[in-house]
Amino acid sequence: MKKNRLFLLLLIVAAIIAFFVFDLGRFLSLQELKSRQDALQAGAAAHPLASAGIFFLIYTVVTALSFPGAAILTLAAGAIFGLWFGTLIVSFASCVGATLAFLSARFILRDWVEKRFGDKLKSFNEGIDRDGALYLFTLRLVPVFPFFLINLLMGLTKMRVWTYYWVSQLGMLAGTLVFVNAGTQLARITSLKGILSPGLLLSFVLLGVFPLIAKRALDWFKARKVYARWPRPARYDYNMVVIGGGSAGLVSAYIAAAVKAKVALIERHKLGGDCLNTGCVPSKTLIRSAKLMSHIARAGEFGLTGATAQVDFAAVMERVQRVIRTIEPHDSAERYQSLGVDCVKGDARILSPFAVQVTDPDGSQRTLTTRNIVIAAGARPFVPPIPGIDLVGCYTSDTLWSLRALPRRLLVLGGGPIGCELAQAFARLGSLVTQVEMGDRIMQREDAEVSEMVATRFRAEGITLLTGHKAARFALEEGGKVLFADHAGTEVRIEFDEVLCALGRSANLTGYGLEELGIGVTKTRTVETNDYLETLYPNIFAAGDVAGPFQFTHTAAHQAWYAAVNGLFGRFKKFKADYSVIPWATFTEPEVARVGLNEQEAKAANIAYEIALYPLDDLDRAIADGEAHGFIKVLTVPGKDKILGVTMVGDHAGDLIAEYVMAMKHGLGMNKILGTIHIYPTLAEANKYVAGVWKKAHTPVRLLKWVEKYHAWQRG
Ligand SMILES: Cc1cc2nc3c(=O)[nH]c(=O)nc-3n(C[C@H](O)[C@H](O)[C@H](O)COP(=O)(O)OP(=O)(O)OC[C@H]3O[C@@H](n4cnc5c(N)ncnc54)[C@H](O)[C@@H]3O)c2cc1C
Repeated sequence: MKKNRLFLLLLIVAAIIAFFVFDLGRFLSLQELKSRQDALQAGAAAHPLASAGIFFLIYTVVTALSFPGAAILTLAAGAIFGLWFGTLIVSFASCVGATLAFLSARFILRDWVEKRFGDKLKSFNEGIDRDGALYLFTLRLVPVFPFFLINLLMGLTKMRVWTYYWVSQLGMLAGTLVFVNAGTQLARITSLKGILSPGLLLSFVLLGVFPLIAKRALDWFKARKVYARWPRPARYDYNMVVIGGGSAGLVSAYIAAAVKAKVALIERHKLGGDCLNTGCVPSKTLIRSAKLMSHIARAGEFGLTGATAQVDFAAVMERVQRVIRTIEPHDSAERYQSLGVDCVKGDARILSPFAVQVTDPDGSQRTLTTRNIVIAAGARPFVPPIPGIDLVGCYTSDTLWSLRALPRRLLVLGGGPIGCELAQAFARLGSLVTQVEMGDRIMQREDAEVSEMVATRFRAEGITLLTGHKAARFALEEGGKVLFADHAGTEVRIEFDEVLCALGRSANLTGYGLEELGIGVTKTRTVETNDYLETLYPNIFAAGDVAGPFQFTHTAAHQAWYAAVNGLFGRFKKFKADYSVIPWATFTEPEVARVGLNEQEAKAANIAYEIALYPLDDLDRAIADGEAHGFIKVLTVPGKDKILGVTMVGDHAGDLIAEYVMAMKHGLGMNKILGTIHIYPTLAEANKYVAGVWKKAHTPVRLLKWVEKYHAWQRG
């Protein structure tokens, strides 16, 4: 704890100890007040301003230091200064005192609380951000909640000081009036308990709960109001219409059909969306061929001589299409039709919250009425308007799969997961790859040493990796394609034959009715939804890449469940989309997988952590496989068996991390993983060994000293 924080804490503790040691509480008792009432009144009559000032100060100190006795002081205010002046003094003094207590708690404890519980507090702080003032108002209005506890607890939240001050003042006014008024008739009071009759207390409770109810009612009316301009059909064709047949749309439709809802799935292009047709499936298939090539190149390492292979790129790309065709039936119209989904081929457009128009491929149009709509329109590659980009013709993950000739010199723009996976794959298949990244490292979401490990491998495999290079313009020079990049103020010239643009993906937001319905978009250009994935219209949901914040197949499917269930059953029970344990992997070599926090995120969020690190070059199976590289890094809560996040770098990291995803999802810690048998010799053993590293760091040293003594005694 920093010195000034410690000083303030000691000061407060000393004041509280002094209060009790010197029994200062005796001055804050009803009897004492009654016995001194006449003298106090006389003093106040003689020196009204000075008495008010002193009283204000005492009241502020008592409340700021959370001494017991504020209620007696409030009665005293009535007895000495009368109802209105007494209320005025108490109202301000109590709020100033409360705010000082609030600020002290914040100053002394909030950093610690954030570090310790930051991961848990996120949604709580979001709630405070949204409705904190209302909650505080309720707490203040109902005087059964301890005054000092509210000050201390609220200080640990992110509530603004000014909000805290004025809401407290407003909320406490009614209670203050009651007590000050009671003080004006002090003689009749025999105990503090009698001041708040059950009836009065109930009125306060009702008054306190009223704003919360009013807010809920207002939200409900607001939600209804958005529908005012849209006519509701007398009956609906469907319970749910899903726009887009990618991962999110397919799963939404599947769930709806499984629970016997009537559902239509509209897809304008190919069912399976990006994942099947242009994303996960083709990229991983290409990576497989590339990996095989890299193994052939390493054959000597394994004692195999004479192993060579020529890349028939057209055949590699044909295999990609074959794999797509093999998987296609999983996402086919026939399969979904047989599951009870009406698969509709065409372009969807939302006409109203209850009607979706479909334009068939032949141009004919029809309208489907529906109770709910799920927008699952996905995303597309982002191509920035770099001057000259049209001259050189840029490939994206959408168009790449039509290539049948391997580019001799491939330029890859972007150092994110897609850029990295494809850069390595093409390099392994024989392209001379130059990868250009504007930032100072590739895979920037991961910790720096992860980027470094992948970058080192890339360079060793012959990729020219240019970080800190910003693509400025393209040009055609003597028929050749050239990129001019800006690197620390100097112009760098890069020649290439083909360019792949992998600079992120933009959600599809236009052309299907969002603007007309006034459905908002976020700052990161995704469809705006609430925790239930509802858009502005509570019967229109968004899921998958179009909704963000993640762009993965498994998160699209995860969100799809919430969209479907909230749409079909939301009137009975709604579920908040749970993003607490989201894993992902980048399928480079070394493979990188992650779940939960990494170090850079923990630091940015000011969350304290410990690290358990297990290097894979120590693992028997990795050594036997010739893949002894990488590591597992687990972040845990200091001193606790609670996992905050895991990063894995190494062979099959994307598969191996599943054990930690499971552990985090179900609140299992390192002890549980350590206590689980893992087959020898497998890569999965590393999961256990890293738990062993954690355990060693938490050895009960003192206990072991005693155990050592016990053994010595046993030996005689
Ligand atoms: C190269 C690459 C590799 C990837 N690798 C992985 C990976 O390894 N693992 C992973 O988890 N994710 C990966 N992804 C991401 C993954 O593909 C996406 O996150 C996932 O496909 C998102 O699914 P979706 O349903 O949200 O959108 P999409 O799959 O894009 O589906 C949206 C569908 O909506 C249709 N549509 C849009 N508008 C309309 C309309 N008005 N009417 C009718 N239809 C419409 C589109 O035609 C499209 O088929 C990769 C992506 C790429 C590009």
